[in-house]
Amino acid sequence: MWTLGIESTAHTLSFGLIDKNGIPFPSSTSTIKPEKGGIHPREAADHHKAAASELLASALASQSLSPLDIGAIAYSQGPGLGPCLRVGASIARGLAAKFDVPLIGVNHCVAHIEIGRQQCGCDDPVLLYVSGGNTQVIARLEGKYRVLGETLDIGIGNMLDKFARAQGIPFPGGPVIEKLAKKWIDDNPNATMEGLELPYAVRGMDLAFSGVLTAALRLVNSGKPLEAVCWSLQEHVFSACVEVAERALAHTGKTELLLGGGVACNTRLRTMCTLMCEEREATSFAPPRMYCIDNGTMIGLLGHLEMGAGRVTEFDKSAIDQYLRTDQTPIIWA
Ligand code: AMP
Ligand code: MG
Repeated sequence: MWTLGIESTAHTLSFGLIDKNGIPFPSSTSTIKPEKGGIHPREAADHHKAAASELLASALASQSLSPLDIGAIAYSQGPGLGPCLRVGASIARGLAAKFDVPLIGVNHCVAHIEIGRQQCGCDDPVLLYVSGGNTQVIARLEGKYRVLGETLDIGIGNMLDKFARAQGIPFPGGPVIEKLAKKWIDDNPNATMEGLELPYAVRGMDLAFSGVLTAALRLVNSGKPLEAVCWSLQEHVFSACVEVAERALAHTGKTELLLGGGVACNTRLRTMCTLMCEEREATSFAPPRMYCIDNGTMIGLLGHLEMGAGRVTEFDKSAIDQYLRTDQTPIIWA
C-alpha cells in the first residue's frame, strides 16, 4: 500500500506518494502566484480548494494508482497559515474517512529534514532550513530536532520576496534575485561591496532580516543598480546563515550540513555551504530542488516513517497547529 502526503502550509498545495518500501515519488504541485501583493492566507486557501481534486487525480495517475491503492494519508499539521493548513487537513480527514485508512498529521519542518536525509543519505546533520516563512538552524539532540538558532523576525524567503515585490518582481522573488545577482558578478568579476554594505543579520545564534530588507530598499532608492543590490543582499544574508550553521557544527561536533527549504534551491547558497564545510572537513548536502521547495512527498515520507514506528493521528486529535515547533515532535522512527 502507498502513503499519500498532502502539503498545504502556505502558498503551495501538493500531493506526493511514498511506496510501501518508503521510496518517494515526485509530487503534483500547484502554487498560488498573486498578480500583485503578497500571499493572502484566505486567497491561498481558496486556491488550494480549487486546485485539489485535479491535482490529486494527477498525483494518482502519475503512478497509475487508484484511490484503493492508498493505505495511509499524511498531511501537514503545522506550522503554517491557518486557513491553508485547514484545507489540507480537511482533505486528509475526508480521504481517510472515505477509504477507511489511517490518518497521520506531521510536522512540516521535520518533513523537510527527513526528505533531505533520505535523498542525500546523510545521518545526523545540522540542518540549515531556509524557506519562505522559516529560517532555522536545527540539530538532533536527545530524541528531538532542536532549534539552535532562528530568525527573530521574518523568514529569509519572505524577505527576498518582499524586496523583489518592491521592484515589481512577482512571487517567488528569490529565483529572480539569484539571476540578477549572478549577472552582476559575471559582468563585474572584480566587484566590491563598497557603497553596497548592508547590516549583518547575526545575533548570537539567531538571525534577523527586516533591517537588511529596509537597508537594501534604501540602496535601490538611492540609485544603486538593482543587480548590484541583489548581489550584496545575497552575500550578506547567506553569509549570516552560513556563519550560524558553522557555529552549530562547531558546538555540536557534527560533521554533516544539510540544506532544506525553498531558498536552498539557490546555487550561491549551496556553494557557500560547500566551501564552509570543506574548510572544516565537514560535508555539505543539498537535496534535489523539487524536494527543497514545499512538496507533498516529504509529508508522505514522514507519515510513512512515523506510522512505521506505530504512530497514527486520531480524528479528534487531528486539528491543525499553526505554531507547531520543530522540537515538539519526538523522533520515534530512527
Ligand atoms: P518554501 O517556503 O520552502 O516553499 O520556499 C519558498 C521560498 O523559496 C520563496 O520565498 C522563494 O522566493 C524562495 N526561493 C525559491 N527558489 C529560490 C532561489 N533559487 N533563490 C532564493 N530563494 C528561492
Ligand atoms: Mg517549507
